[in-house]
Amino acid sequence: MSAVKMDRFEFQSEVKQLLNILVYSLYKNKEVFVRELVSNAVDALNKVRFEILTGRETEDKDAELRIDISFNQSQRKLIVEDNGIGMLREELIENIGTIAHSGTVDFLKNLSEADSQEQDTLDLIGKFGVGFYSSFMVAEEIHIYTKSYKQNSQGYVWKSKGDTEYTIEESPKKQRGTRIEIFLREDEKEFLEKYRIQNILTKYSKFVPFPIYLEKEKLEVVDAIWTQPKSSLKEKDYFEFYRFFENIQEDPETYIHLSSDAPVQFNAIFYIPKTSFEKFGFFKEELGVDLYSRKVLIQKSSKDIMPEYLRFIKGVVDSEEIPLNISRETIQSNIKIDKIRKHILKKLLGHIEKIKEKDRDKYLRIWGNFSRNLKEGIASDVENKDKLSPLLLFRSSKKARDEWIDLKEYRERMGKDQKEIYYITGLDLDALAKNPALEAFQQKDLEVLYLTDPLDEFVVEHLREFDGTPFRMAESADIKLDTKTEADKKKDAAAQQDEEGFIAYLKKLYGDRVADVRLSRRLVESPCLLVHPATGPSVHMERILKMANKDYQFTKKVLEINPDNELIKEMIHFHSAEPQSLELEILALQMLDNMLLREGVLEDIDHIVPRIQQIMLQAAKKIRPVQKAKPKSEPKAKAVSQTKIKTKAGPAAQAKAKTKTKDTKKAKQ
Ligand code: ADP
Repeated sequence: MSAVKMDRFEFQSEVKQLLNILVYSLYKNKEVFVRELVSNAVDALNKVRFEILTGRETEDKDAELRIDISFNQSQRKLIVEDNGIGMLREELIENIGTIAHSGTVDFLKNLSEADSQEQDTLDLIGKFGVGFYSSFMVAEEIHIYTKSYKQNSQGYVWKSKGDTEYTIEESPKKQRGTRIEIFLREDEKEFLEKYRIQNILTKYSKFVPFPIYLEKEKLEVVDAIWTQPKSSLKEKDYFEFYRFFENIQEDPETYIHLSSDAPVQFNAIFYIPKTSFEKFGFFKEELGVDLYSRKVLIQKSSKDIMPEYLRFIKGVVDSEEIPLNISRETIQSNIKIDKIRKHILKKLLGHIEKIKEKDRDKYLRIWGNFSRNLKEGIASDVENKDKLSPLLLFRSSKKARDEWIDLKEYRERMGKDQKEIYYITGLDLDALAKNPALEAFQQKDLEVLYLTDPLDEFVVEHLREFDGTPFRMAESADIKLDTKTEADKKKDAAAQQDEEGFIAYLKKLYGDRVADVRLSRRLVESPCLLVHPATGPSVHMERILKMANKDYQFTKKVLEINPDNELIKEMIHFHSAEPQSLELEILALQMLDNMLLREGVLEDIDHIVPRIQQIMLQAAKKIRPVQKAKPKSEPKAKAVSQTKIKTKAGPAAQAKAKTKTKDTKKAKQ
């Protein structure tokens, strides 16, 4: 007889890290390891059932698919056995020796960022499960006997003490499937009690779709709940099923049970979780809905049933119309599945809208967790745009800062002359509210949506319109909002000439830094405003583009100046009186830079501070309380500085004088 060959392997470093955490874990709810083992057994049974149904040759083809749990008291051993798909040698190495599951890798990442013995972190072990490895919380050693479903395959035993290595050797195993032997630690003997295990099973595993035998005694299991009539089910049943199905100890936010006979037959239960798994960094790429046919699992995390943006939706879809022996490849091209998918999506989104109408608080929680997914859907699911757009919520200029508005409500609040849905983008609500571009909207009592999430702009661009009403950026250059009265606009020829002269001066001074300079009709208070070419992205979006690519060139904006603003008036007079003035140039340059700075698109800021200091110096000299402050012993200095101010303040002062004359003229007319 030849000696059995035993191979030694090091665990992948992530596994070592995880084992280290689990072995020393202070997590109290260690019983969850039973749930993990049973759930792995269910997966293995589901997989083998699929192989059998699709006609693949398998070992022990006719054996009852089942899970067996038993004890060996003298060896302090808990045994969980299934006759599922089993594993080949390479699969043992691949599946058990390394962490393939993205959720577990993410879990580790979360752990490394926090203190691994902190309660919150420990809770994650129970909340999300860490699979097979969690057994090392209670085991001093684990043996896995396994034999693949593939015909004539060799059996193996995998052994580890949960330290840094494991061994694999051949082991004659008669039956297909996997037997896991947990050698319990001295202080974990409670898991050798039948009653204790039974309790754990009823708590976590009562919906297992295969019979479980505990010490050869068959436990009661609940039939697939999605096939039961809604009237026979209570919220509690749905919640329990969710916890089992999702393998977490948290109730869902809400559930949706859909049944249909025509035009397509299906039963489905969907859940919206209370927690965003993605926010924790979990399961990013995994979809949450499994596809069944007559209670048989056809496809886990089905891409063909749920679009990717709805990956937060968990649950099952079961349809008799899907042939049991459908191969994975043909699921995609199956016309019936496509029909079911379309139908389900419409119903599901309609249902979410109903929640929004009927239970606002619940919807706000859903929105808080999954708004990004819904927005993603607007861009990716053109077919359901009309079902998705009513779900969107925004902040608004006419709502309190913590209140939301949807597009339907916005439309209903529009005056009869309003033809567009106005919006403005920016991260900070307070800054948005102070944007001078909103002055005209305020004056005209027009509501403006505040788009504070960077995704919002994409959403609006994709939507283009809501129910026939187009969206329009409030800072758009070609918006026609006139806040000026006829009297405001009536200027004598001289004044008009001064304004035009000043505008020509600014255009020349700014050169190609702006697309244009023009008089504003929309500003009420503020001196000036940068507005955007109608087709370009918003500044907000431009800032994001710039962050992604530092070579991004900001689009040129149009500077609008408000001829009724004090500062602008003063500058116009200044320009008429002394067009070559260096001081005016400094003010004009600062005026543009102020606007660019405010928008966050000023690239070269080095010259700004010295320039502002220069302006401040002039201001300080002008406003200094000259008479009182200076001691008598310094009469000379006083005289000098006063003269200086006089010369420097000259143009402005002259201009003021001119204003007066003009005003008097105006009054006389
Ligand atoms: P998960 O189940 O979340 O993928 P686990 O660490 O629990 O992670 O299991 C790792 C892998 O080992 C499984 O994905 C599966 O491929 C394999 N495995 C675990 N238990 C069994 C079993 N009883 N039968 C067959 N394969 C199994």
